[in-house]
Amino acid sequence: MLITKIRSRECRELLARLGFGRLACVSNNRPYIVPIYFSYDAECLYCFSTLGRKIEWMRENPLVCVEVDEISAHDDWLSVIALGHYLEFSNSPNDAKGQEYARSLIEKRALWWQSGYTAVQVRRNRKPAVPVFYCIQIEKMTGLRASPNTRENARTPRDALIRN
Ligand SMILES: Cc1cc2nc3c(=O)[nH]c(=O)nc-3n(C[C@H](O)[C@H](O)[C@H](O)COP(=O)(O)OP(=O)(O)OC[C@H]3O[C@@H](n4cnc5c(N)ncnc54)[C@H](O)[C@@H]3O)c2cc1C
Repeated sequence: MLITKIRSRECRELLARLGFGRLACVSNNRPYIVPIYFSYDAECLYCFSTLGRKIEWMRENPLVCVEVDEISAHDDWLSVIALGHYLEFSNSPNDAKGQEYARSLIEKRALWWQSGYTAVQVRRNRKPAVPVFYCIQIEKMTGLRASPNTRENARTPRDALIRN
């Protein structure tokens, strides 16, 4: 298996094509990671949620990480990691345009609102769900590609170590 870095253009293409990844946030040194959908546009991942743990944690600490991958086989995959900043579009008039723009991108996906309401059904407090539009502003991004190495015949980890 050959591992190579991919260019930022390819990273962006993957984000735009998949629109799905894992969002990690941290509170009091404890990480929390959830699968989410997003819409990628101009170095931002636009997302919809309802108020819950991840939103509370990101409000407290806006530094987050998103991982996206496309796996065709164990030796044929793409993976992108983006470090970014949480930015919420509140209901204030100042954020109206941002929220409208986020919504216009997100609602291109059928039933876009459904996943954001997933947790509502299992949350203990039966308060009405509070919708939240936000984006992750990407600050740094890296991408890797694995591709089959046809000349490789290492069958065990030991073989691979010896060959390298
Ligand atoms: C394919 C897919 C796409 C999704 N897309 C979105 C999306 O676009 N927007 C969105 O808001 N949510 C999405 N979800 C749901 C998301 O993963 C979270 O479950 C949800 O957002 C609630 O997170 P929260 O922090 O608000 O949880 P809370 O309601 O605050 O609940 C916290 C508790 O629930 C547990 N929990 C929360 N989520 C999960 C989970 N996924 N699996 C196991 N335990 C969990 C936590 O460990 C914790 O105990 C998606 C899930 C999947 C599988």
